Amino acid sequence: MDMNLEQLAVDEQEAVERNVLFTTLEQIKAWARSNSMWPLQFGLACCAIEMMTASTARYDFDRFGVFYRSSPRQADVMIVSGTVTKKMGPVIRRLYDQMPEPKWVIAMGSCATAGGPYVKSYSVIKGVDQIIPVDVYIPGCPPNPAALIYGVNKLQEKIRYEAKTGKKVTSQ
Ligand code: SF4
Repeated sequence: MDMNLEQLAVDEQEAVERNVLFTTLEQIKAWARSNSMWPLQFGLACCAIEMMTASTARYDFDRFGVFYRSSPRQADVMIVSGTVTKKMGPVIRRLYDQMPEPKWVIAMGSCATAGGPYVKSYSVIKGVDQIIPVDVYIPGCPPNPAALIYGVNKLQEKIRYEAKTGKKVTSQ
């Protein structure tokens, strides 16, 4: 084998090893992130009661590594639980912008996903995805805590899958 070909083979081998290491690190980070999701602590309407119930002893949200934070700077998940009014829209957007990357959004309940019972109201935004990107939609009015836990599990799967495949998954 001539020297150039030999060098090329060595470079290729090193690149493969670097990429394998890089992929593995990404997967480890995704595993850690998906098992320690810190949602921003705020609720907008009745769905928030179900969200709070998910943290009680009966449902034990903590076992999935879910701990609420009071500051957007410490949060990586926003659970939009309730009616998104036009007055509240800019505040939600600002809080979202204050969260560091990577970050994810769960739209909990029919109000947050599409306006819910207030879909014809002049004062309600017909789905929070009109102001911020949403990763997981949870239907229901309200969805019960088990549905929220299922939604978080789907988000965890999405984070791990994206790290493993390098593909971006659209909203679920
Ligand atoms: S979806 Fe139903 S329960 Fe949830 S905030 Fe809207 S009206 Fe309330």
